[in-house]
Amino acid sequence: MRTQIAAANWKMNLTLQQGEALLKGILSKAKTLNEHQQIVFAVPAPYLQAAVNIINGTKNVFVSAQNIYNKKSGAYTGEISVEMLNSIGVTHTIIGHSERREYFNEHYKFLAEKVDIALENNITPVFCCGEPLGIREAGTQNAFVAKQLEESVFHLSKNEIKKVVIAYEPIWAIGTGKTATSQQAQDIQHHLRSLIAKHYDEETANEISILYGGSVKAANANELFSQPDIDGGLVGGASLMEDEFVKIIEALK
Ligand code: PEP
Repeated sequence: MRTQIAAANWKMNLTLQQGEALLKGILSKAKTLNEHQQIVFAVPAPYLQAAVNIINGTKNVFVSAQNIYNKKSGAYTGEISVEMLNSIGVTHTIIGHSERREYFNEHYKFLAEKVDIALENNITPVFCCGEPLGIREAGTQNAFVAKQLEESVFHLSKNEIKKVVIAYEPIWAIGTGKTATSQQAQDIQHHLRSLIAKHYDEETANEISILYGGSVKAANANELFSQPDIDGGLVGGASLMEDEFVKIIEALK
C-alpha cells in the first residue's frame, strides 16, 4: 500500500509556546500509526528545532520546512538551506506551495532546482501543484497541473521521483472553506497519476503518494481520503486545531 500522509502546514501562525502545546497535544492524542501511515508537521522555520526535539524520533512522524532555497550555502540573507535542515534532523520540505508561487513569484525552473537540491540532500520534497479559479472555470485544469509537473519534477529519474510526495491543492479551495468535491479531487489526482505513469511507468505512478489540500477538515477527511488516488492531505487551517487534526489523522486509510 502507498504511504498515507497527514501533513500539517502551519504557515505563518502560532507563537513558539502555542506551537509546542499543539504539537504535544496532537502527539498525545493521535492513534498509533501503522507502517504505511505518516504524520508530517511543516512548522515555521524558527520552530523547526523545537519540533524535532518534541517529536524525538517518534516512528513515522516527521518535521518539515515550509520552504528551502535552491543553493546549499552562501550569501543569501534570510534563506534556509537543506544543509541546515539536515543538521537539525528535519526530513521534509514543502516546495511550490501556491502562496510561494503567488506572493514570491516562485516559478517552474526555480522550483525544479529546489526539488533537485532537496533530493540530493535526502530531504523529501512535498511538491505542490494546483490551479487557480479561472483555470478551473475554463475547464483547463488538467493541462495546467500537467505543465506544473512537466516543468518542475518530470526531469527526475524514476528512482528520484519515487521519493517525491505530490500535493494537489486547487488554489480556489485553499483557506477559503471551499473544498473540492471528493470526485473533483479524485478525478484530477487520477489524472496526475496517469501523467506519471505515462512519463515513467505504472509501477512508479502507483508508488507515489498524492495528497489533497484545500480546506481539509475533520468533517470531510474521511470522504476525501477514501478516494483511490488520494493518499492523505496537506492541511492548513484545520492543522492548527488539535482535535480537528487528530481526527484527520484518524481518517488516513
Ligand atoms: C494549505 O496550506 O496548503 C492548505 C491547504 O490550507 P487550508 O487547509 O487552510 O485550505
